[in-house]
Amino acid sequence: MNADLERLIRLQRAETDLRRVEAELAEVPRQRAELEAALAAERGRLDGARQELAGGQKARRQHEADLQDLEAKRSRFKGQLMDVKTNKEYTAMLHEIEGVEREIRAREDQILAEMERGENAAVEVKREEESFKQAEERHRTELRGVDERARALEDQVRRLTADRDAIASTVPAGVLDLFHRVARSRGGVAVAQVQDAMCQVCHVKLRLQLYADLKRNEEIVQCPACNRILYYEAPPPTVVAEP
Ligand SMILES: [Zn+2]
Repeated sequence: MNADLERLIRLQRAETDLRRVEAELAEVPRQRAELEAALAAERGRLDGARQELAGGQKARRQHEADLQDLEAKRSRFKGQLMDVKTNKEYTAMLHEIEGVEREIRAREDQILAEMERGENAAVEVKREEESFKQAEERHRTELRGVDERARALEDQVRRLTADRDAIASTVPAGVLDLFHRVARSRGGVAVAQVQDAMCQVCHVKLRLQLYADLKRNEEIVQCPACNRILYYEAPPPTVVAEP
């Protein structure tokens, strides 16, 4: 095989490996953001449960204050009952007192309901606190995993870049220029394998004479359709079962 062609094949493999690892490394910020978002959602649920509990406690304190006012009002009305002069006034005052007592019962019912809601909310807060604690531990572990992976990928990028540069340094300048020109315009893939008289990247069918020349791998030949540098590799031998 033409020595430069052989170097270009190795260069392409090194480039492809490097690009794959760089693409994996580029995913890391998104993975970190997803972990942060998942933890923020858990924190949001805990905050929500705590707000529910605090809101219930506030409502209960308001009902209790209202109840005290209503009880004071009832005492005042009962005191005034002694001072009324007529039956009509007396009936009217009793009516007022009944009204206040209805309100008192309503407030007492609300306080009971808030107490019950408060107990449930307290249980929910405990549950969310436990769940958040677990989520935090999970988050720490997963984040550590992502960081370790990122470090390993960075090491690989450094190693693969050095490999790629070492191979590139063995390629004559003109051939390397051609490689880079084609790679730039063809998504980073400058070298294509030929099998069954076909460019395996763009799948154009090659003329028979070109194919015959290519099979010798003696020259640097570009695909007539995609411009990639072509090389021939015999298909793996197929085992035919004896009848
Ligand atoms: Zn092609």
